[in-house]
Amino acid sequence: MTAAIIGGGIAGLTAAYELVKVGERPYIIEPGAIGGMVRSTQFGGFTLESGPNVLVERPEMARLFSELGLSGDVRYPSVTPYGQYVWYDGKPTKVPAGVLELMSSPLFSWGTKLTLPIKVLLPRLLKRGAPDCSVGEFFQPLIGAHAVKHLLDPVLKGIYGGDVYDLSARAIFPGLWTASQEGRSIVGYMRSRSGGRKPPIMVLQGGIQKLTQALWAKVSGHVEHVPLAAERIIPLDGKRYKLNLSQGKTLEVDGCVVTAAGKEASPLVFHLSENLSDQLLNIRSAGLTVVHLAVSRDEPLVKDAFGVLFPGGMPCDFLGVMFNSLIFPHVAPRDKHILTVMLGGAQAGDRFSSEETLRLELPTLLCNLFGVRAVEWIQMYRWPAAIPQLSVGHHLIVKAMDACEHEFPGVVFAGVDRGGVGVSERIRIAREAVKRLRRARVETVV
Ligand SMILES: Cc1cc2nc3c(=O)[nH]c(=O)nc-3n(C[C@H](O)[C@H](O)[C@H](O)COP(=O)(O)OP(=O)(O)OC[C@H]3O[C@@H](n4cnc5c(N)ncnc54)[C@H](O)[C@@H]3O)c2cc1C
Repeated sequence: MTAAIIGGGIAGLTAAYELVKVGERPYIIEPGAIGGMVRSTQFGGFTLESGPNVLVERPEMARLFSELGLSGDVRYPSVTPYGQYVWYDGKPTKVPAGVLELMSSPLFSWGTKLTLPIKVLLPRLLKRGAPDCSVGEFFQPLIGAHAVKHLLDPVLKGIYGGDVYDLSARAIFPGLWTASQEGRSIVGYMRSRSGGRKPPIMVLQGGIQKLTQALWAKVSGHVEHVPLAAERIIPLDGKRYKLNLSQGKTLEVDGCVVTAAGKEASPLVFHLSENLSDQLLNIRSAGLTVVHLAVSRDEPLVKDAFGVLFPGGMPCDFLGVMFNSLIFPHVAPRDKHILTVMLGGAQAGDRFSSEETLRLELPTLLCNLFGVRAVEWIQMYRWPAAIPQLSVGHHLIVKAMDACEHEFPGVVFAGVDRGGVGVSERIRIAREAVKRLRRARVETVV
């Protein structure tokens, strides 16, 4: 008997790798491309990322890279410090990187500038006692409504494609949420995390897909890849599960790592928990469109910017424009810069739903926004349901997953709806899920 991993993205591959390391031979059920959202293409000297553009180097990521022999491919920003920008008052505006920059930044009101240095030291400033609240409501007492709107909202849109007054503070900032419930100050919390240092960002020479390819190379000889969709997990006798797959196929396993998320995971768990299945069905997903364009290297882009993030209410549904080659020069030829434009999100209209309109309007829009003379279209990729929205109250869905795991030992959840959306978080969450799976099986045997 063996386990099935539902989904072959970074989470599924990490889970497979962890199981293979301890001698197991799991199934990977994946009807689509191995690697999921991690998708890199090489084209005319450009490295184009249609999924994740950068990785955050957390310890678990560094360890995995070293195990996979990828450490030599890691590239850090060539511009240090590089800037993060948001679109404010009709232009890219730097996100302050320190107290001095904050004092002169238009992104913060004077009231916030005067009180923030004290507020970050005060315990119990952030919302206490509530079961959950939106990220906007959570941070407003600290940074004020102006900075929530002009700084936090674009940042969250850039990561989740969602709305600052819809996304759950408890789900998105779990550490900070717990610290606030315990009455700790922001500074106290920051110090307790990795010595207060911000982990560096990085990419892989040749594309981030090298990561999923390296994982696949490690596991492919030890797993069985089933190129079908899983439809239902049916409990048999408390220790075993039947998996209904597409094309009327079935599989009997003693464990399931579910890395499909939200609506896609809903039918899978119907026979385990109708309550969880209903809740997963109600998770909205943000669709994303990624467009790669090129400009000449002598165009006047913001020199230290990795990119510019956009607040809600922009007429073009822009979430962000990344200037990848400004800080990672190797991803474009010597005479060109690459721009990665992200459009869409949970509140997107349909202005750019047709590729034809996009091709016609986007280059001009970019020229107007950034003052460049000409923009060359390279490619576009659409993710119809990219990021599940962890809305206020999401902890109740996680609680229902925990209850399901408890009732059905061997079924574990590791989808994006479990928490962190970033690749390093996906790796951590998949590893934790495998630990729970193995623990549950030992307990069942005992
Ligand atoms: C445009 C974009 C930009 C991003 N930028 C960044 C970034 O810069 N940095 C960063 O860290 N992260 C970024 N992310 C987020 C990150 O890429 C994802 O969170 C991560 O890749 C998700 O990995 P996963 O394995 O959990 O899910 P996925 O990659 O979605 O894999 C899940 C897999 O499950 C399969 N599946 C679904 N249902 C079933 C079923 N019923 N049966 C079998 N298989 C099924 C799917 O086909 C899919 O392959 C970005 C995401 C997108 C879309």
